Amino acid sequence: MTTASPSPAPALVFGGSRGMGAAIVRRLAAEGRPVAFTYASSPDSAAALAASIEETGGTVLTLQADSADAEAVRAATLAAVARFGKLGVLVVNAGVLIPGAIDQYAFDDFDRMLAVNVRGVFAAIRHAAPHLLDGGRIVTIGSNTAERIGAPGSSVYAMTKAAVAQLVRGAALDFAPRGITVNNVQPGPIETDMTAGLMDYITPRLPLGRIGRPEEIADLVAWLAGPTAGYMTGASLTIDGGWTA
Ligand code: NDP
Repeated sequence: MTTASPSPAPALVFGGSRGMGAAIVRRLAAEGRPVAFTYASSPDSAAALAASIEETGGTVLTLQADSADAEAVRAATLAAVARFGKLGVLVVNAGVLIPGAIDQYAFDDFDRMLAVNVRGVFAAIRHAAPHLLDGGRIVTIGSNTAERIGAPGSSVYAMTKAAVAQLVRGAALDFAPRGITVNNVQPGPIETDMTAGLMDYITPRLPLGRIGRPEEIADLVAWLAGPTAGYMTGASLTIDGGWTA
């Protein structure tokens, strides 16, 4: 007699409609997890992603929620839990890049960067953690700029991602008693909408001669979310093709 293996626990991905987030949603859904994901302003991309996952038998829920709005983050979390039950995996991918030198940087842009990239990450962990199963996984998407900035005009972005790395260290300790691991993936240049306008700068500087693919980040996230990564927590893992080596 064969017994069916239990379905993997549900996942919630903040910022899943495009780029790396979409690759992460696909990857987690391919493992058989029900996946809820948020988007801010791309309902068509979110719907197309959901349709393509459902076509292959996956279970997915799309939720509109601006990560800068903590109440929207809370509502999205509750909607995901109401649909799928307690969560096994939380991925916080939503992030924005507004480049600019400090002496010309607008305060509204500074506030927006902090609201999405830092407060939004805190809000996601703050609101979702009570709904995570013991032994669950939290993965944030930071940036290799938290280690080395490398290009002018990136100071505010790098600052927000350095804040995420430090938040993750503390969160790892806060949630360790529940067996929940918390790790931060720090990509380098990855081919998404975010880097589309930066290729003239990026291309000649790529040590491996190519830019990274969103699926390569999704693979690392899936490993951190999986059963063999249970002893890794509080870590920031840089995956940048040698950019900051
Ligand atoms: P994209 O701009 O291609 O996609 C960003 C995703 O995040 C979209 O799904 C977008 O949804 C969502 N998002 C953005 N702002 C919000 C918000 N306020 N609330 C909810 N969702 C939001 O970015 P990437 O895939 O390139 O980047 C993903 C993450 O990786 C970001 O945190 C980024 O900082 C980080 N990163 C990217 C690198 C790269 O080279 N691409 C390198 C290092 C780190 P919507 O379309 O609805 O706005």
